[in-house]
Amino acid sequence: MARSLIIGAGGQLGTVLTQALRDIHGNDQVVRSDMRELDNITGPFEVIDATDADRIAEVVKKYEIEEIYHLAAILSANGEKNPLGTWDINMKTLFNVLEVSRMNGVKKIFYPSSIAVFGSEVNQQNTPQSSFLNPSTVYGISKAAGENWAQYYFQRYGLDVRSLRYPGVIGYQSLPGGGTTDYAVDIYHKAIEGATFSCFLEENTTLPMIYMEDAIRATIELMQAPKENIKTRTSYNLAGMSFSPKEIASSIQKIYPDFEITYEPDFRQQIAASWPQSIDDSRAKGDWGWNPKFNLESMTEDMIKNLKLKYSKAE
Ligand code: NAD
Repeated sequence: MARSLIIGAGGQLGTVLTQALRDIHGNDQVVRSDMRELDNITGPFEVIDATDADRIAEVVKKYEIEEIYHLAAILSANGEKNPLGTWDINMKTLFNVLEVSRMNGVKKIFYPSSIAVFGSEVNQQNTPQSSFLNPSTVYGISKAAGENWAQYYFQRYGLDVRSLRYPGVIGYQSLPGGGTTDYAVDIYHKAIEGATFSCFLEENTTLPMIYMEDAIRATIELMQAPKENIKTRTSYNLAGMSFSPKEIASSIQKIYPDFEITYEPDFRQQIAASWPQSIDDSRAKGDWGWNPKFNLESMTEDMIKNLKLKYSKAE
């Protein structure tokens, strides 16, 4: 019987999280789901549109699901193209997951939040956990509301919802889905292809980021931590590293000296400018032992090594 259900498993994070959970618990124990059919399906897979609560409930019952990772969302940059639609999808899918879980005995939920919850009111350096939240995007507004709903379901119904405010996630395994930090994945692909990279942010726009391996490990460590250690029931600040486009380009140039970057900022520059530059994650460190392993240099080495391997296999 499978026990974990990943909703939105076909995306940047879900692709890698599915594999990590299957490595731990076994293929049959982890049900992958997305609103669309996915390629290369192994292990249990179900099509679920998370705006449909009945469909979530059907799958939860079928596999006797004990924990749900609710990754489905419209991300920051894409969300701005349709603000009210983004609010509807992001909130409706969360409410469905919370209600279906409460009504069907699902024991634990993972709900990802984001650094997009922060806005102009915060101190952008080492942004504290308990900052005033005035997000600048509809995505950020939905995540800030979602964090409070997570806490509400814990306090009111005892539902064990756990959450992380991910920074921009960078990995070689999958492509990003329309966020403001996507450039930091695309830049490595361009470097491997030997192409010039045109960046949609200005050269000195520093943002908090995290390597995929650290982001997935944080997720699993949070979910495995004893319940009494989880003292923040909105969402934990999480940090990996911070850098600007200019700095990531320099780290790539240590391996590819001829690599070139140009800057053509678009509407995403304004979103990025409203976000923190670095994050204080001391509560995550204190409560459940979080500790990132990758910095910019080690991430660049690992990204390039793995992307080269991937590209050579594809040839
Ligand atoms: P993504 O866009 O790559 O993947 C999201 C997946 O959800 C897609 O496969 C999409 O098909 C699916 N989906 C969309 N609407 C759906 C619906 N109604 N029902 C079912 N599936 C649906 O996103 P990601 O980067 O993997 O992010 C996963 C989660 O982590 C999101 O909640 C996102 O807000 C959060 N997050 C991501 C980052 C990042 O840098 N990637 C940073 C902060 C927070």
